[in-house]
Amino acid sequence: MANQVEMRFVSIADNLVLGRLMAAQLAAQAGFSLSAIEEIKVAVSEAVSNAIIHGYSGRQDGWIAMDCKIEGKELAIAVEDWGVGIADVAQARQPEFSSDPERMGLGFVFMESFMDQVTVRSHMGHGTRVEMTRAVAEEALTGDAQ
Ligand code: ATP
Ligand code: MG
Repeated sequence: MANQVEMRFVSIADNLVLGRLMAAQLAAQAGFSLSAIEEIKVAVSEAVSNAIIHGYSGRQDGWIAMDCKIEGKELAIAVEDWGVGIADVAQARQPEFSSDPERMGLGFVFMESFMDQVTVRSHMGHGTRVEMTRAVAEEALTGDAQ
């Protein structure tokens, strides 16, 4: 299975559902189980929410890009914003770290636990790109997905 889709939307919370739909559809195409699809949707929601809330600090006119690719049994999803950027990525990824005392600081924890690999590239004043990959477990593969 091979597929590639790119989508761009502005940073309004109503667009979160688009990100979730895109992730769910591609995860289904790749052959993930229903429970895995739910997990992938959560990971993508966390990344898109972060772009909206932190990247653009609530501004509604920032672009968010989602680049998705299925290659064989692997699904790769990148969520990118051109917002404020993250000063210290290692610190941001720590469980329960948040720059906002009202938040739990668990977004990256969800991304890391639901995806095989999470890579974060960020530059202050330029933005943030979160790349996530997950492979379909061998036993879950259907004839179509291979
Ligand atoms: P929660 O996700 O539990 O609501 P949170 O968003 O603060 O809380 P994480 O998603 O783990 O927690 O993110 C940790 C921190 O990393 C954020 O508080 C924020 O400072 C920073 N961060 C994450 N994503 C971005 C981004 N796209 N742009 C700028 N800063 C970000
Ligand atoms: Mg978050």
